[in-house]
Amino acid sequence: MNLVLFGPPGAGKGTQAKVLQETRGLPQLSTGDMLRAAIAAKSELGLKVEAILAKGDLVSDDIVIGIIDQRLNQPDAAKGAVFDGFPRTIPQAEALDKLLESRGKKIDLVIELKVDEAVLLGRAEQRVKETIAKGGTPRADDTPETVKNRLDVYRKNTAPLVAYYQKQGKVVTVDGMAPIADVTKAIDAAVAQKSR
Ligand code: ADP
Repeated sequence: MNLVLFGPPGAGKGTQAKVLQETRGLPQLSTGDMLRAAIAAKSELGLKVEAILAKGDLVSDDIVIGIIDQRLNQPDAAKGAVFDGFPRTIPQAEALDKLLESRGKKIDLVIELKVDEAVLLGRAEQRVKETIAKGGTPRADDTPETVKNRLDVYRKNTAPLVAYYQKQGKVVTVDGMAPIADVTKAIDAAVAQKSR
């Protein structure tokens, strides 16, 4: 099963992707995590994208499509994957359809996490506090100003993907405002229904 977790920054995509990795054995393919790993490693790619992530703008389609193309070649992605933070633009969604098709696969399900935008800024602040409390370093892009930009970018470039996947009849909408365990349950039910 290939599943896209869809929703604005702070909707809980990463949290739920990790649960699906545990419960269904589907690897979490997060372009954000992959880009942050490249930045931490100070690779050529990392140096190229660091300022873009810090601003909350989108990295070019070519870069993220290339990363996903390579990642799909790894054996653990053979039985499916959870896409988290990818695709984020229509060209990325079209490219993903092609990448999967060339491997005899397709997107089976798109989970749209619906959240009230007013809470998203608060969630980013919460994430910063929790990370510091655990002794970690907060994400460079969780400042209020950058979160606002990430939301604008989401509205403009990414939100239209819902219609793209609705045309394919693949979208299940889940209330992302519910407690984490309830969101997990709703997603699990949608996945189970699709697997039948
Ligand atoms: P969030 O969903 O919380 O905004 P991510 O970890 O998914 O966070 O992404 C962090 C940043 O990485 C984005 O703001 C963007 O700069 C970059 N990025 C991640 N995925 C993509 C993508 N598919 N296309 C373009 N840029 C991306």
